[in-house]
Amino acid sequence: MSKLFRDRTMPALCPFCRAEVRRPVEVEGGEWYDFAAESCTCGAVFALDPTARNGGAVFLQALLMAADGDMDRAMGLGEGVDYDVDYVKKYNSELHRLEPNSFGTLYFVRLRALAGD
Ligand SMILES: [Zn+2]
Repeated sequence: MSKLFRDRTMPALCPFCRAEVRRPVEVEGGEWYDFAAESCTCGAVFALDPTARNGGAVFLQALLMAADGDMDRAMGLGEGVDYDVDYVKKYNSELHRLEPNSFGTLYFVRLRALAGD
C-alpha cells in the first residue's frame, strides 16, 4: 500500500530541459515578487502558484524575473518571439514532487536569447 502511494508521485522536471528542478524559495528584493520561485540550470525561471488561482500574477513574476526585474523590458517581450512559457501542474510544495491530488502549478519562462540565437 505505501509503495503504491509513493509510486504516484514523480519528481518535478523542467519542461525545457527535463532536469529535476530545485525547490522554489521565497524571493527577496522585489515588490512584485509575492511567490516562491527558482531558476533552472538551463536558464528557465519558474514561480509557484500554490492554489491554481493566481496564474496571471505568478506568470508575470516569472517573466519579470527572467527580465532581470526590469518591468519595461518584461512588458516589451513577446511570447513565442522572445521567450517561451510552459507549465508543470500537480505540484506539491511540501513533497517537492508531483502528486495527482495537488493543485500547485509551476510557471516556467525561458528567454530565447539564453538558448543561444
Ligand atoms: Zn531547465
